Amino acid sequence: MGETFVIVGGDAAGMSAASKAKREHPELDVVVFEKGDWVSYAACGMPYYVKGDVEELDDLVSLTPEEFVQERDVDLRTQHEVVAVDTDAKTVTASADDERVEQPYDHLLIATGASAIRPPFDGMGLDGVFTIHDMDEADAIDRFLDRHDPETAAVVGGGYVGVEMAEALSARGLSVSLFEMLPHVLQPFGDVVGAEVEAHLREQGVDLRLETAVEGFVGGGESEGSAEGDRIEAVALGDEQVPADVAIVGVGVEPNVELAADAGIDLGPTGAVATDEYGRTSAPDVYAAGDCAEATNVVTGEPDHVPLALTANRAGRAIGQTVAGEPTEVGPTAGTAIVKAFELGAARTGIVDESAAREAGFDPVSVTITDESRAGYYPGSEELTVHLVADRQSERVLGASVVGREGAKRIDTVATALGAELTVGELQNLDLAYAPPFSPVWDPVLTAAKVLGGRLGDAD
Ligand SMILES: Cc1cc2nc3c(=O)[nH]c(=O)nc-3n(C[C@H](O)[C@H](O)[C@H](O)COP(=O)(O)OP(=O)(O)OC[C@H]3O[C@@H](n4cnc5c(N)ncnc54)[C@H](O)[C@@H]3O)c2cc1C
Repeated sequence: MGETFVIVGGDAAGMSAASKAKREHPELDVVVFEKGDWVSYAACGMPYYVKGDVEELDDLVSLTPEEFVQERDVDLRTQHEVVAVDTDAKTVTASADDERVEQPYDHLLIATGASAIRPPFDGMGLDGVFTIHDMDEADAIDRFLDRHDPETAAVVGGGYVGVEMAEALSARGLSVSLFEMLPHVLQPFGDVVGAEVEAHLREQGVDLRLETAVEGFVGGGESEGSAEGDRIEAVALGDEQVPADVAIVGVGVEPNVELAADAGIDLGPTGAVATDEYGRTSAPDVYAAGDCAEATNVVTGEPDHVPLALTANRAGRAIGQTVAGEPTEVGPTAGTAIVKAFELGAARTGIVDESAAREAGFDPVSVTITDESRAGYYPGSEELTVHLVADRQSERVLGASVVGREGAKRIDTVATALGAELTVGELQNLDLAYAPPFSPVWDPVLTAAKVLGGRLGDAD
């Protein structure tokens, strides 16, 4: 009998592993358990579905369940929730329609993702209060907007999902208030990016409330389909109530680790499943990948939790290849991320601010420069701000953030520098492409490196 590779979770990490393992080793039996109906979907596209840029929810699906079964020969079982893993017997137990199915494995991948944090606010159960983490929630938000034609929206949380949803709801004609407890939105992108995005959100008509703790939601009026019977009418902030006909709560995610923890598999310092460079957990032949698992930070070498799509896809693919017989490292992560905030692009990679660098044991030095995205004389050029951080002793590049109307994807140059452990001098000397419609002769990232190089020189 052939070997069996069992995968729990049918999205980015799980399906990347299934596809890669099958491609490399067609005789392998690959069984995927997915508790919902959707597989291989792009959660990242959901804000753009709500906004109306993506017409159908199905457009976010890269391969349907039928295609996985028929074209990839994967034994895909949707509506099957894995409820237990026995790492001694090497079996998983799945629950489907009140039936229990026991499935033996030779190799197991836990790719259960993360869940949206549901804060203990009053009124979380009111009709019109949503989190947005899975496709059914995106569908429910869209239907709610169609059915009730709300005028005011509250977004709680100024992370990238909150910022994207503020744009989506504004585009649907709602008047949006965004509440963030911290002094800046997009906290992992650093203060430089946060301040520019905040000014832009306000320009776009968002009622932005920083350092504001939401206490809950207030309802009124009968509504169908709500646990609390009422529909949301306002956000409660101490003595003040801010009108809101709909609310999106985007205050972060937590890794889905119960299954692994119950099976006695070790969690790491971040609270996600601990893994080694091959994605292996503490249990023999059990791997973990994606939003439920830790990854290694390329700058610090420490375990990190980076719930982002490429981290999940890449780790899943590597594990699929390992299980197929070719040991492949999942690779470190720099936490490289980019977000569209109305007309602005904002991006980050590695360590973005000096205090975080100091905490990680570096002696940081940083610069912030603003330059043109194209040659200054070429039409359409926009200002681009680059914030670059390096270590004074080793002169190694530690991270960066970028913000502007054009060219935020330039963060990838710095992400590459981090992967190659380049110094500021080496970054400054990269041979990057130039023509007036695309860049100044000195790309803004190179200019930032030149200025930072000068500062490092000053310190000698
Ligand atoms: C609104 C939104 C926007 C985003 N935008 C971006 C972006 O622009 N860029 C970016 O890099 N990332 C983005 N992300 C994050 C990205 O979508 C995730 O990092 C990625 O989906 C993680 O993939 P995963 O396979 O680890 O987990 P998931 O996609 O969460 O998939 C896990 C799957 O496991 C299933 N499952 C869980 N437990 C069980 C069980 N016990 N049994 C069976 N099945 C189970 C779940 O139903 C789910 O389908 C966004 C996420 C959201 C919610």
